[in-house]
Amino acid sequence: MPETRRLYFEDAYLMEFDAEVVSKTEHEGLPAVILDRTAFYPESGGQSWDRGTLGGVEVLKVLDLDGAILHVLKSEIAGGMVHGRVDRPTRFDYMQQHTGQHILSQAFFETLKGETLSFHLGPDVSTLEIGLRAISDAEWDKVEDRVNAIVWEDREVKTYFVPEEKIGEVPLRRPPKKQGLLRVVEVDGFDYSACGGTHCRRTGEVGTVKLTGVEKIRGNLRFEFRCGGRALRDHRGKDRTVRKLAGAFSCSDGEVAAQVEKLAADSKALKKRARRLEERLAAFEAGEVIRAASGPLIADVLEDKTPDEARFLALNIVKSGEFAVVFGVRGESQGHLIAARSDSLTADLRGLVPVIGSILPCKGGGGPSLVELVTPEKARLQEAVDAAVAWLQTNEQKLKA
Ligand SMILES: [Zn+2]
Repeated sequence: MPETRRLYFEDAYLMEFDAEVVSKTEHEGLPAVILDRTAFYPESGGQSWDRGTLGGVEVLKVLDLDGAILHVLKSEIAGGMVHGRVDRPTRFDYMQQHTGQHILSQAFFETLKGETLSFHLGPDVSTLEIGLRAISDAEWDKVEDRVNAIVWEDREVKTYFVPEEKIGEVPLRRPPKKQGLLRVVEVDGFDYSACGGTHCRRTGEVGTVKLTGVEKIRGNLRFEFRCGGRALRDHRGKDRTVRKLAGAFSCSDGEVAAQVEKLAADSKALKKRARRLEERLAAFEAGEVIRAASGPLIADVLEDKTPDEARFLALNIVKSGEFAVVFGVRGESQGHLIAARSDSLTADLRGLVPVIGSILPCKGGGGPSLVELVTPEKARLQEAVDAAVAWLQTNEQKLKA
């Protein structure tokens, strides 16, 4: 296939161009063209492809096929000469990330001897895997300070081609992956990388570089970073969140973390206290129900309890003496039946399951001393409670009338 002239090598700021269609083809069922020249950057080297239009038609993907650059299109275009337009905001965003990545990689190496093992420039966030086991806050700051100092020195970013046999004369940060004529991207006197990507012409255009996260991977550290516009948007979002929290706590931005920690500790203590009070209340309530009951068999449809509360109450009653309890509870969409008995009684409550099942559609189960059933027919709960009572009066020796 014919090799495409890469206009973005010559000028990364060229966003409009005219070119000739030299080949029309297909890619995964979509029309695709190869041009004699292009300003579209193809997906490669950790950088995403350029967005834009060719002859007014949207470019969906750009691929490098051994030197021929394939533009995958949304619909067919005519042959001959065509006008191309690269989406500038997307391209410039990637130029900021890519240039920032070179400076950041060198700053990691210079400051902490941390080598770049790989990087990826994503649509929202970019990552850099560095050969470091750990990093302290002070080291983190040192790397950020160094990379931003280089950005603010507004150094020139040069690109030039060097034949393979002379590449040894260039102090490359990493050995080149390709052979033949190599393209070197030099952040003036600071970093030398073999790279085919698009970069800013001066470091000042990167604006700022910020590390925004880190995680351990394969025994190394993978950093998340944002440059330029992305760093601004990230700061904007976090700033709003922090100010909102500071307002809610009536404290300064710097005190938010301590306030959240205090709130979490208070909440834990309150939950513990609430639990203790619930237990005391349940014991008290169980006593009330027992006093009001006419015998050891207690049955009722409870209108103001959740299934969890009803189970808790039933268990408190059966451990307070010799009792069998049947509670019906109307949940939001279903009816619940809870049956429990004291350990000194002997009936196996699982025997209730087929009995209730023969009256109402229901499912559930349990053990010999506690059974819970759920039915969609919550209006008929009283019938289920009555049936359970009748079963207990027949099957529990100590409850026989
Ligand atoms: Zn690069």
